[in-house]
Amino acid sequence: MLPKYIKIGPIKYPITTDQKQLEHRDALAYIVFDEPEIILGETKSQTKNAAHLFHEIQHGVFLAANMDKGKTEEEVTACGNLWLTILLDTPDMLEYLMEIRDGKT
Ligand SMILES: [Zn+2]
Repeated sequence: MLPKYIKIGPIKYPITTDQKQLEHRDALAYIVFDEPEIILGETKSQTKNAAHLFHEIQHGVFLAANMDKGKTEEEVTACGNLWLTILLDTPDMLEYLMEIRDGKT
């Protein structure tokens, strides 16, 4: 299930799907910084949805870190894809982080 929101630094971005808005913008997904929101398409591939989500999250990370100037779409995609594969290929990581969050370690 798609997360309802993601918090990047101090900003909480609701995550929604709206294929018509994406077609209007000629984009596969996008992040809005002013009225925080991440909008994804309605592709049938969950892997593509996750890759698009991590791409937009990476834009938000670079913005929150004040490192967004001059970043190319290729750089954003590479970083987003790496984080996605790190999490997918390290299934114990999320459990470990939940233990830390819940004070169980
Ligand atoms: Zn982008």
